[in-house]
Amino acid sequence: MVKDTKLYDVLGVPPTATEAQLKTAYKKGALKYHPDKNASNPEAADKFKELSHAYEILSDQQKRQVYDQYGEEGLEGGGGAGMNAEDLFAQFFGGGGAFGGMFGGGMRESGPKKARTINHVHKVSLEDIYRGKVSKLALQKSVICPGCDGRGGKEGAVRQCTGCNGTGMKTMMRQMGPMIQRFQTVCPDCQGEGEMIREKDRCKKCNGKKTIVERKVLHVHVDKGVKNGHKIEFRGEGDQMPGVLPGDVVFEIEQKPHPRFQRRDDDLFYHAEIDLLTALAGGTINIEHLDDRWLSVNIAPGEPITPGAIKVIKGQGMPSFRHHDFGNLYIQFDVKFPQASELQNVHLLEQVLPPRQQQVQPPPDSMVEDFGLEDVDPSQNARAHGAAYEDEDEDGVPQGAERVQCASQ
Ligand SMILES: [Zn+2]
Ligand SMILES: [Zn+2]
Repeated sequence: MVKDTKLYDVLGVPPTATEAQLKTAYKKGALKYHPDKNASNPEAADKFKELSHAYEILSDQQKRQVYDQYGEEGLEGGGGAGMNAEDLFAQFFGGGGAFGGMFGGGMRESGPKKARTINHVHKVSLEDIYRGKVSKLALQKSVICPGCDGRGGKEGAVRQCTGCNGTGMKTMMRQMGPMIQRFQTVCPDCQGEGEMIREKDRCKKCNGKKTIVERKVLHVHVDKGVKNGHKIEFRGEGDQMPGVLPGDVVFEIEQKPHPRFQRRDDDLFYHAEIDLLTALAGGTINIEHLDDRWLSVNIAPGEPITPGAIKVIKGQGMPSFRHHDFGNLYIQFDVKFPQASELQNVHLLEQVLPPRQQQVQPPPDSMVEDFGLEDVDPSQNARAHGAAYEDEDEDGVPQGAERVQCASQ
């Protein structure tokens, strides 16, 4: 039986939770409520401190025992956590105490301290990449409060906390039976800030927080032919914090899938479906390009296009990034065969097509039986298809099957 479940409740675990469960619960919560991820939600900061506080106590065998038996009164200073919430976070996740460190941005290995990097994925259409454009993107960021120049209050109003001499930590003692226990705890006078501002001197604009959240619009140049995954960096346009360099903002270009074209480097790929007559006797196909132009493509008569054939139109692909040349447009053809009902005077084909292929003749004494062909019963269709795929070597059936797939796309 535990006296009080409050700290367990904060982490969302039962009092019977194992160390591993506590660890997981803290990790999840701390990532969710970390102040760096919740600039516009001041309640998150409190929640973050509560989580850290709860984990600090419950992850310590001795403290957990005391808490289970006596509740928070059993622990010093209202159960004071021995460590600053931010430090615990850093110790837990490693890195220099910056959130960015673990999210692959932010804090650099050396050099002056810098605020975290804001990373953003910018999705753009293939049309926009073909033509190039400037996207105006708004972001929320922390800036040094203009009301107090980042001091948090009137000049001279900020003082070192006398309770902890500016360290933010305090050592407290409590007698537990015959023992005197010492605890390191977050300074209750300054909440670990190490400094204090009198209520009346506090900056009204930022309420002593030193920064305010501001909306900023950045102009992101999506250059012609930019590649998927390309990163555009705005140095120093990220969050500002007193005493550290402003962070960066990085936009990563993500190319949206296109309904007509696939892109490979600077080349475009297009599927065109043509009828059998066009494939054999020529015709025209129209392709809507990415810049409002239509390409009228002539298929010459007497140069048959076989199903699956790939042809190229040079110079009609994507513009190459930072150059003025263009890739190619590759067209893959699907040939649509006519339905039985659409065919008339089939015998006329004998005048234009090459003669039938010579068949292997049965030896003179063979038994020969005559057969006709029927359509396959749909209920047996699956089996027939399976057999066709398994036994197939070269005669047309898989191509037919492929054609159906392409036509339904
Ligand atoms: Zn201010
Ligand atoms: Zn203090």
